[in-house]
Amino acid sequence: MNRVGVFLGKYVIPEEREYYQVRNPADTSEVVGEFPLMMREDVKRAMEEAEKGFQSWSNMLPVQRANVLYRAANLIESRASQMAELLTREEGKTLQDSMFEVTRTVNLLRFYAGLITSKTGKVIPSQDPRTTLLTFREPLGVVGVITPWNFPLSLPAWKIVPALATGNSVVWKPASITPAVGTEFVKALYDAGLPEGVLNTVLGPGSTVGDEMTSSKFDALTFTGSLEVGREVARKMGGKFVRLQLELGGKNATILSRKGKLSLAIEHVVRAAFGLTGQACTATSRFLVPRELHDEVVTKLVERTKRLTVGNGLTKGVDVGPLASREQYEKVLSYIKVGKEEGAKLVLGGEPIKEHERGYFVQPTIFDQVTPEMRIAREEIFGPVLSVMTYEGMDQAIEIVNGTEYGLVAEIVTDDITEAVEFSRNAKVGVVKVNKPTTGLEPWVPYGGVKGSGNDVYKEMGEEALDFFTRYKAVYVGY
Ligand code: NAD
Repeated sequence: MNRVGVFLGKYVIPEEREYYQVRNPADTSEVVGEFPLMMREDVKRAMEEAEKGFQSWSNMLPVQRANVLYRAANLIESRASQMAELLTREEGKTLQDSMFEVTRTVNLLRFYAGLITSKTGKVIPSQDPRTTLLTFREPLGVVGVITPWNFPLSLPAWKIVPALATGNSVVWKPASITPAVGTEFVKALYDAGLPEGVLNTVLGPGSTVGDEMTSSKFDALTFTGSLEVGREVARKMGGKFVRLQLELGGKNATILSRKGKLSLAIEHVVRAAFGLTGQACTATSRFLVPRELHDEVVTKLVERTKRLTVGNGLTKGVDVGPLASREQYEKVLSYIKVGKEEGAKLVLGGEPIKEHERGYFVQPTIFDQVTPEMRIAREEIFGPVLSVMTYEGMDQAIEIVNGTEYGLVAEIVTDDITEAVEFSRNAKVGVVKVNKPTTGLEPWVPYGGVKGSGNDVYKEMGEEALDFFTRYKAVYVGY
């Protein structure tokens, strides 16, 4: 069988560990690869390797580190189609969406390679003519990275690339169900000249390897995942005086304003609710429409959603892939049951797709007449399930948008500039979209959630990501 290794200093296939199979969620008879089930002590070993790696890497000139990142970008670009296919086979999203992740990763590598050669510190004028004030940006040391399965390539990249660019070394724990394309990402960095030990990987469940990561003495830890696990991580890290970044779930809404284009809102909602099978932290899961437009919106929304093709992400023309795992599949079906029991009106879907019996497929599902107190309107489902809700005035719409414990992304569809600006000010979220779908992020813009969507201390991506991975040292030079 195709055994895949990990990076402990360098690429190794640990003989002493048990192996587990990663299967294609679109066809579970297909094994993508066998991966080592690592133990708590492997985290310690990875940290030791990362400490050694840090010594050489942090002393390299920014331009030397940048050159490694540029070379990795070129290598990933040349391997793009193989990597995209592997991503689809392990996670299920369409080939087009996988290719988008590969491209974003290449962009991230080039963006941070460019930034790090100039954003290294400042010169500040002093009150004393014979003093020069400087700040140096210094790396923190060994950074722990824990990531979810839904973006197995670009999301780890938006943490790991700025961490490496600024001179840190890394121990990364990917989600255990999607380690394959991540392994190729790390290989590309080593092929590009990353010194041994700078980037290490540990594979295994959150309950052992993940738990060990949060018990270890990293210089900083960055985590993306669910609110539930994020709370647990925050509790365990509390009192450690270690820099912690948490990016968590979402319950994102799109509002169609009376002053907006109905057809545009429908296109956006269908794309952001059902594209990526709804398994994006930025997915639209609530659609707010003015009461008097409700009937027309629901008719057109159902009509448009029916035209989506669900199937294996490798097949041309498929819009919606499977859910990524049995656990996800069961969770989504259980929320559909909750929606029915709560009295929401099921207007489309709601069932597993029987003809794809070897994969975790669920029909794109729309609930109508959803009210804000229902669980399906408040909790993150993370699947192809959309709730339609109505509102009277914009104040009420904003109250509904802000009425969950999450605060990640919100969209308003409007042609009125005043309304757009007021909404941007009043929505309690990290990212506002005006006439743009809730999904889709650009790597040069800071990103992060508020309220239950993140601990909101440091942003990811953009120039701002450098702040999490570095500290400023002030230097007073008298002469
Ligand atoms: P999860 O919280 O179950 O797991 C995330 C990671 O944490 C995995 O690697 C997992 O193995 C690990 N983990 C689990 N228990 C742990 C523990 N006790 N200690 C340490 N690590 C542990 O999330 P998931 O199901 O993999 O991913 C889906 C979630 O991620 C959704 O809630 C989604 O909204 C969120 N997400 C957020 C963003 C964002 O940028 N805000 C992006 C993508 C996904």
